[in-house]
Amino acid sequence: MPEEVLAQAASEMLDWPDASGKRCGMGVMEMSHRGKEFTSICAHAEGTLRSLLAVPAHFKILFMQGGGLAENAIVPMNLSALRAQPGERGHTDFVLTGTWSQKSLAEAGKYSDTHVAASAQASGFTNTPDPASWQIRPGASYVHMCSNETIHGVEFQTLPDLKALGSDAALVVDFSSQVASRPVDWSRVGLAFGGAQKNLGPAGLTLVVVREDLLGHALSVCPSAFNYQTVADNGSMYNTPPTYAIYMAGLVFDWLQRQGGIGAMEAQNMAKAQALYHAIDTSGLYVNHVHPDCRSRMNVPFFLRVEALNAAFLAGASAAGLLQLKGHKSVGGMRASIYNAMPLAGVHLLVAYMQDFERRHA
Ligand SMILES: *Cc1c(COP(=O)(O)O)cnc(C)c1O
Repeated sequence: MPEEVLAQAASEMLDWPDASGKRCGMGVMEMSHRGKEFTSICAHAEGTLRSLLAVPAHFKILFMQGGGLAENAIVPMNLSALRAQPGERGHTDFVLTGTWSQKSLAEAGKYSDTHVAASAQASGFTNTPDPASWQIRPGASYVHMCSNETIHGVEFQTLPDLKALGSDAALVVDFSSQVASRPVDWSRVGLAFGGAQKNLGPAGLTLVVVREDLLGHALSVCPSAFNYQTVADNGSMYNTPPTYAIYMAGLVFDWLQRQGGIGAMEAQNMAKAQALYHAIDTSGLYVNHVHPDCRSRMNVPFFLRVEALNAAFLAGASAAGLLQLKGHKSVGGMRASIYNAMPLAGVHLLVAYMQDFERRHA
C-alpha cells in the first residue's frame, strides 16, 4: 500500500469526508452499502479504475469476493458453457506457466472438460510458451492464462491475439499480480480477474472485468452471488460487497492517477525491474533462471549460488529494513515483490544491500 493512502485512510477512519470535505458523522465501515455515501465511494472507485485502465464501455467492472482462487471456480461456472452444445460439458483450455495456472486448471476440471493447450513445465517454468504453438481446441469456450506468475516470476509481455491464431475462444486472464502495473490491450481480452491485494488495495476485494457478450451463460449450479450476470445487473451490490476494501482500492486508484496514471507506473516499474535484474545478472553471487524476455516486472525471484548464505542474507536484510524477501516455499531462494507501491528508491536500497552483502561474503 502506498504510505500516502494509508495516512489518508487513517485520517478518514472515524468520520469520512465527502469530496467537498464535509464530514458525514460516520466512518466507511459504519455505512450502509446502499446509502448515498458508500454508493458515491463505489461509483468513484469504479469510474477512476475504468479511466485508469482504459476499460471500454462494452466491458463490465465487477467488485466481488473470494480472491483469485475462487475465480478459478467462478470463471468455469460462468463461461465454460459459452460454446458448448446443450447437455455437453463445456471445453476450457489452459496455458500452464507456473503454480497459479496449474491451480486454475485443476479447479476448472470440476466444472468443465479441461485441456492443456501449452505448458512451460519442461523448462521448470522459466519461459512463456509462444502463442503460435498453443494447441487450442476448436469449440473451446475460453483459453485461460496467467499473465504474471507471481511465484515463478514469469510474465507475458503482450497478450496473445486468439483471433489471429484461428480461435474464437474468449481469452481469460488471471492478472492478480500484474493489474495496474502496465496497460491492458482489451481488444484481446474476454475476461480478466485479480485479487486486489497485490497491486490494488487490501485483501477481500476481487476485481473482474468482463466483456458484456460473455454474460448470461452460467451453469445452473453457479451460486447467485457468483453469477456475473447477477452481479453486473446489481452494480456489484447483489449482496454486501467488501465495502472497506473497495474504499481503500478507490484511494489507491486516486493515488495512481496522481502518479501520472498507468503509463507512468509502467515506466517506473520498468526502471525498478531493470535495476534489480541488472544487479543480479552482473553479480557472482545471485542468479535468476527466467528467460530474459519472460521476466516479471513485479516479482523477481533470485537465488544465492551459495545456499548456506540464505539465512545470513535474510537476517541482514531484515536488520536493514528490507522485509519479506524469502522466496515462496515451493521454489526456495529469495523473491522481491516490487509492486506499484514500492518506490524506485526501495529497489535501490535492496540493490545496495545485495552488493554490500556480496562484498562481505566474497
Ligand atoms: C495471489 C494470486 C492468486 C491467489 O489469490 P487469492 O486472492 O489468495 O485467492 C491467484 N493468482 C495469482 C496470479 C496470484 O498472484
